Amino acid sequence: MNPLRVDLFSDTKTQPTPAMRGAMAGAEVGDERAGEDPTVTALEARCAALLGKPAAVYLPSGTMCNEIALAVHCRPGEAVLCEATAHIVGFEAGGPAALAGVMLEPIAGTRGMFDADQLERHLRADNLQAPLQRLVAVEQTTNLGGGAVWSRAALDAVAETAHAAGLATHMDGARLLNAAVASGVSAADFAYGYDSVWIDFSKGLGAPGGAILAGGAGFVREARRWQLRIGGAMRQSGIIAAACLHALDHHVERLADDHARARRLAAGLAHIPGVAIDPATVESNLVYFELIADGWDAARLAAATLAVGVRLCPMGPKRVRAVTHLDVDDAGIDLALDVIARVLRAA
Ligand SMILES: *Cc1c(COP(=O)(O)O)cnc(C)c1O
Repeated sequence: MNPLRVDLFSDTKTQPTPAMRGAMAGAEVGDERAGEDPTVTALEARCAALLGKPAAVYLPSGTMCNEIALAVHCRPGEAVLCEATAHIVGFEAGGPAALAGVMLEPIAGTRGMFDADQLERHLRADNLQAPLQRLVAVEQTTNLGGGAVWSRAALDAVAETAHAAGLATHMDGARLLNAAVASGVSAADFAYGYDSVWIDFSKGLGAPGGAILAGGAGFVREARRWQLRIGGAMRQSGIIAAACLHALDHHVERLADDHARARRLAAGLAHIPGVAIDPATVESNLVYFELIADGWDAARLAAATLAVGVRLCPMGPKRVRAVTHLDVDDAGIDLALDVIARVLRAA
């Protein structure tokens, strides 16, 4: 097998840059659990401001942000409304049931999004038989929805509908900064109607780990209790928080490059026989396409391209994902297009 030449599997595959490693090596650190790590404290303050919330807590992963948020907002037996393809539904190992003890009520939306009318139709008056609806959760950008960017108006309408019915709101912002760069709307503006929101540093921002969960002071205090409860409090974690601060300084505006490369990849894929994609749906760094060539499925294509050094992510029987990030350059896009076209032609 050839060495890996371009890795489009996920934006989690980035290597920390030398400058990022330098920032990590020089970080001032302390015991995070005791509130004594100045780099973590600085990151939390900076991100609270970035997200327009009073407080924030640094956690090891985005998954932990989601799981803790559900646990703080809800009691066991209560219900969370979310889009049917949401990360909390299929990719967190059943955490919502195992940790918060909540029911998920999926809404069949479009490209990972739903609107206020759809939400309204899923809301019900409190009755003793049904789970009590407590929280509405959205993803910005949508992952399985293809990196779609919700508009500020759509997010606000969903939040207003939820709040009017007495429900809380949560935003999974794993790629919120991608949405901000793609649209020109600030992260804080997108998060305006949401009681809690988080961003991931291990996706497009290119840091080795960590995520920030933000919300009101009371919410974040209870989130810190859950952080301790499930072992999410670290010690000299300023080492990795320094990478996150470095990413905020150096890796946010450049997300526009990832988006441009994703559009170019989609435009090229649209010309390859056997591939179906609507390039107009590519709004950020996630590119999903369908295989329509006879005899081809996603796993077979991914294996064939990997054998020549191009890694793709099979996401369904015929559905493939390709993700642009810090470690994918223009030549990588050209190579991927060339390899996919050649592999499908050779069959
Ligand atoms: C990656 C991802 C998560 C989980 O984040 P981790 O840092 O990998 O735990 C949650 N939601 C969405 C939409 C994601 O893409």
